[in-house]
Amino acid sequence: MIKFSKVEKTYASPAGPVPALKGIDLEIAKGEIFGIIGLSGAGKSTLVRCINMLERPTGGKVIVDGQDMTALSDSELRAARKDIGMIFQHFNLLSSATVYENIAFPLKLSGKSDREIKEKVEPLLKLVGLETKAGQYPSQLSGGQKQRVGIARALASEPKVLLCDEATSALDPQTTKAILELIRDINKKLQLTVVVITHEMQVIKDICDKVAVIDKGVIAEQGTVLEVFTNP
Ligand code: ADP
Ligand code: ADP
Repeated sequence: MIKFSKVEKTYASPAGPVPALKGIDLEIAKGEIFGIIGLSGAGKSTLVRCINMLERPTGGKVIVDGQDMTALSDSELRAARKDIGMIFQHFNLLSSATVYENIAFPLKLSGKSDREIKEKVEPLLKLVGLETKAGQYPSQLSGGQKQRVGIARALASEPKVLLCDEATSALDPQTTKAILELIRDINKKLQLTVVVITHEMQVIKDICDKVAVIDKGVIAEQGTVLEVFTNP
């Protein structure tokens, strides 16, 4: 579903070039939950942003669902991005919009009618367990509930891939567990390919099938969670 070939990303900065990814090769199969773990600054966020071209690689290729993302024009990219949902550490919700409106937002942007939107949003509210919160504002929600809104919004355009960038790092351990279970359920129910970025080993152990360890822009190790985290 996702394939990286020799992906490079070097940022320009006033202090000179910053090489963030140095030749990443990676393959993520359809339906898999794939974890990427590494220390702060290792390149995790850059790597995940190269999947939906929030960052454009400076070298190599990124193929998602058969499409070379690095070769798409801006308008083709807008279409391809509908296949890729993303959730964030700080949820990135619109604070002046209700739960319903936040989830509806990407659908509204793509020109869907109010009726079509309602037909999509109501089942999503149910899926993430927020049926009774549709009219509330983000400030009235707990962290876990905010991330549920983030998940529902990410799923609104029926993506094939869900990117999770430190999605539980702002949550307490119990809420983290519940959100990871929800992600696992959705992965199973919707046959969704999930990429999880984290600096926490426990997150990987709890839900990932496979894992890559990234260090200073290089994949240091990859394999099943058992292979990578079992001491020899
Ligand atoms: P992680 O997500 O693992 O913390 P990042 O992908 O955010 O790592 O960062 C990798 C490296 O790239 C770091 O050295 C970081 O300082 C650098 N970097 C990230 N974004 C930028 C940017 N926009 N401009 C310059 N350097 C950046
Ligand atoms: P209708 O009158 O066509 O039945 P409404 O707009 O009255 O539809 O909304 C009915 C349901 O739709 C509500 O229970 C809620 O789930 C959802 N809904 C629609 N718009 C909103 C909104 N802005 N905020 C919260 N919920 C909404």
